[in-house]
Amino acid sequence: MNPLHFQDLALSQELQLAIAEMGFTEPSPIQAQAIPLLLEGSDLIGQAQTGTGKTAAFAIPTLEKIKTNLFKPQTLVLCPTRELANQVAEEFKKLGKYKKGIHTAAVYGGESIGLQIKALRRGVHIVIGTPGRIIDHIERGTLDLENINQIILDEADEMLNMGFIDDIEKILSHMPAERQTVFFSATMPAPILALTKKYQKNPQIVKVTPKQLTNLSIDQSFYKVRNEHKTELLYRLVELHNLKSIVVFCNTKQQVDELVGALQQHGLIAEALHGDLRQNQRNQVMAKFRTGGVNVLVATDVAARGIDVENVEAVINYDTPLDPEYYVHRIGRTGRAGKSGKSFTFVNSREMGRIWDIERFASIKIAQGQIPSLKDVWVYRQSQFAERIQNEIAKGDLEYFQEMIGQIKAEGGDLETITAALLKMLLGTPRTGTDVLLEEPKRTVRTESREYGNSRTERSGSDRYGKDRTNTRSSSSYSSRSDRPERSERTERTERSERSGADRPERRERNTQGMVRLFFNLGKQQRISKSDILGAITGETGIRGSLIGSIDIFDKYSFVDIAQIEAQNVLKTMNQVKIKGKKVNVELAGAFN
Ligand code: ADP
Ligand code: MG
Repeated sequence: MNPLHFQDLALSQELQLAIAEMGFTEPSPIQAQAIPLLLEGSDLIGQAQTGTGKTAAFAIPTLEKIKTNLFKPQTLVLCPTRELANQVAEEFKKLGKYKKGIHTAAVYGGESIGLQIKALRRGVHIVIGTPGRIIDHIERGTLDLENINQIILDEADEMLNMGFIDDIEKILSHMPAERQTVFFSATMPAPILALTKKYQKNPQIVKVTPKQLTNLSIDQSFYKVRNEHKTELLYRLVELHNLKSIVVFCNTKQQVDELVGALQQHGLIAEALHGDLRQNQRNQVMAKFRTGGVNVLVATDVAARGIDVENVEAVINYDTPLDPEYYVHRIGRTGRAGKSGKSFTFVNSREMGRIWDIERFASIKIAQGQIPSLKDVWVYRQSQFAERIQNEIAKGDLEYFQEMIGQIKAEGGDLETITAALLKMLLGTPRTGTDVLLEEPKRTVRTESREYGNSRTERSGSDRYGKDRTNTRSSSSYSSRSDRPERSERTERTERSERSGADRPERRERNTQGMVRLFFNLGKQQRISKSDILGAITGETGIRGSLIGSIDIFDKYSFVDIAQIEAQNVLKTMNQVKIKGKKVNVELAGAFN
């Protein structure tokens, strides 16, 4: 049985206290399994997805076992990057807060070796570092290995990806024979297993890999978007979801720099994180991001590896990751420690294959997101603002301002004009521009609505649009198998899942002809589902389901496409009803031309 509370683990008061202070109550699965084994002294292979608390899984037992009266390095932790080494060192410091006299040192490239040598000479118990710099110290004789009885490889798979395998072998071969050897990794590729065979003794294997490689608390979607529209889509998502802390990934440093420039011009507080920055610059950026002084961190894969910042609300893959494994690591920056998070992956039509690779690799389904129009964004902002005004009215205490109104009126303008001017000042004018961001080929019109039992045929659409549709993922685009032999496996899978009822309505193309879009003030947070809305509309208004188009549920509101001829009916009727006990407010969000 795994211990359910930290109190059930045989830990000292000092550690229990520090753990409680960090806000941890229950050990994560990897911690529950690894800590007792590590305390016993076993060699260990620990495999768990990112964000599952692997750091504390090794830091807690290590801190328990350090002999504070021996001022020599006893534990060596290898990390792939400088950021990660710093983060691990921080975690050791926090967890070791009440264990008096434990000293740790983080050593990595890019920082004065002289200072590190001094720190090591002062007598440290735990050394955390990147492989290159550790070797440097070993070769200079500035890192005393004699008393090392524990070596930990954190993010072993990433160290391998970064080409550190020779360095790691070199370090391992320098270690005293009597020691505990520990590997932590999100994945366990063959070369790592080969290393464990060579350097570990009867390792215990602790594997916490849910079938899905990615964290379930992350709401994942992808957006088909042209490259030149990606930045605009990013703005819209940030506005629509009211995001204050996000990490954006690009595939190249150049793209990172370009994007940061654009975002800053747009008024977002964005900073870059990539390998060309000096170490102290990187530290500054990270510190600002952590404390909320920077809202958007734009990073490359390597620079952001393992970065652990709490409360990252969303990860945006501005460039589709080139390797499915990167996807898993990237989106692992959000939804950490039991919090929920979102991920948005931008993909152009030529890159759809990468989404499918990711889905296969991680055994997940990524929903296709609807690109919000400027109108969607604006309507949402308006409704948010209207809500804030109502809240303020409810709070009262407005006399002072009411007096002010008197003065303003005296200078000219009636109440409505004054209010409108204020709204304009506070909200700004709606952004204009290409309202609908289209991906090539053009968004196709689909005339079937499977969910609602619409009997209109879809096949006519697929004939009419023929080749154009090969890049869309509406079910009809799979009708012509011979078109795309290279995707036959995928095609079969999708067809199968659709037959079995596991349909993915998100991926249907929207039929917007003769439709208008309505805004409903209820969303996921009110536990509203598509069928709730559909059922309520058909039930209350008596209109046929076939006149209702796509329904997009967001956190606090939803959009529903309705045939124009029924819009008034729906507006009138639905504004008087409740769905799931909640009063409905419906507004016209916009018409399609
Ligand atoms: P990993 O190395 O597996 O990617 P981390 O060790 O970086 O994950 O931990 C992810 C986050 O979870 C950190 O913010 C950490 O402080 C937090 N955390 C770790 N263990 C627990 C726990 N038992 N309860 C709550 N939060 C935890
Ligand atoms: Mg980690």
